[in-house]
Amino acid sequence: RAKDAGRNGFSFYNENMNLDVQRKLTLNGRLHQAINSDEIEIYYQPILDLASGRIVGAEALMRWTDSELGVVSPEEFIPLSEKNGLIHKLGDIVLMTACEQAAHWQKISPIKIAINFSSVQFRYCEQLQARIVEVLAQTGLPADKLDMEVTEGLLIEEDNTLMNMLAYLKQLGVELSIDDFGTGYSALSYLQKFSFSKLKIDRAFINKMASSKADRALVTAILAMAKSLELKVVAEGIEDEHQVEFLQSHGCEFGQGFLFSRPVTAEVFTQQLLDQEVCSAIA
Ligand code: C2E
Ligand code: MG
Ligand code: MG
Ligand code: MG
Repeated sequence: RAKDAGRNGFSFYNENMNLDVQRKLTLNGRLHQAINSDEIEIYYQPILDLASGRIVGAEALMRWTDSELGVVSPEEFIPLSEKNGLIHKLGDIVLMTACEQAAHWQKISPIKIAINFSSVQFRYCEQLQARIVEVLAQTGLPADKLDMEVTEGLLIEEDNTLMNMLAYLKQLGVELSIDDFGTGYSALSYLQKFSFSKLKIDRAFINKMASSKADRALVTAILAMAKSLELKVVAEGIEDEHQVEFLQSHGCEFGQGFLFSRPVTAEVFTQQLLDQEVCSAIA
């Protein structure tokens, strides 16, 4: 940063800071508006059983295209929404929309819907739990078709309220998954203590497998450990056949990535599911 700034370093730095602050202020305002005028869309990315190639689930992913700013990545607006509190509304939109969709999809195939939850949403643990139960009842989605994805950051301390909530949801049948596994620092013993039954290996590791022996070793170790702990594993960010072969031969059951499909609209995902069912009926 100091290097970019050059001789006028100080004022340049301030200008960048101002741009940054300004962008955040603008995004804050636009995001409010986007929520109120229903501009947040939910896309779905299929999750496959690697052995059979069948779609067994979908991950719900938020999409926001602002009329002036264009596409804003969730990598940018989710962290912002965690700071300004809008994550609670956003979280509710994705929960309701995705569960409703998934309830319809049950008529085609018994797939699970994976929904991302921010750690911030768990600050109001009781409300969140009640809302999940309510949405399941309203949409008619069976609890065992909901897969909650949270990141390791949620588990940095032993919090009894949180542990009880997760145990309650698990007992209802909800599946609990650790997202972006390998990027955080959670002790493995925590996973079972907190009722988790699935890991999603972060796509950074899958991505570097071809070029890095260390990353191959890490993925192999995660898969071996998951097997001995009886945890299911999803590999994220699969982009080529070599990755599929490697993962399968090391016991990875599930996969997700651009090789199979990018995140798509509910309409397109419905067609993917229908095609699969029609194909298997013919076969
Ligand atoms: P995530 O939960 O780890 O989601 C997976 C991300 O990897 C998605 O990015 C997906 O589009 C991308 N991805 C999947 N396969 C591939 C691949 O083969 N190659 C590459 N390069 N990327 C792939 P996306 O949709 O941009 O979302 C980014 C992050 O934003 C998510 O990471 C999640 O942390 C957050 N996010 C998105 N939607 C929600 C939401 O509804 N609620 C919350 N709390 N967070 C969300
Ligand atoms: Mg996720
Ligand atoms: Mg992930
Ligand atoms: Mg991620």
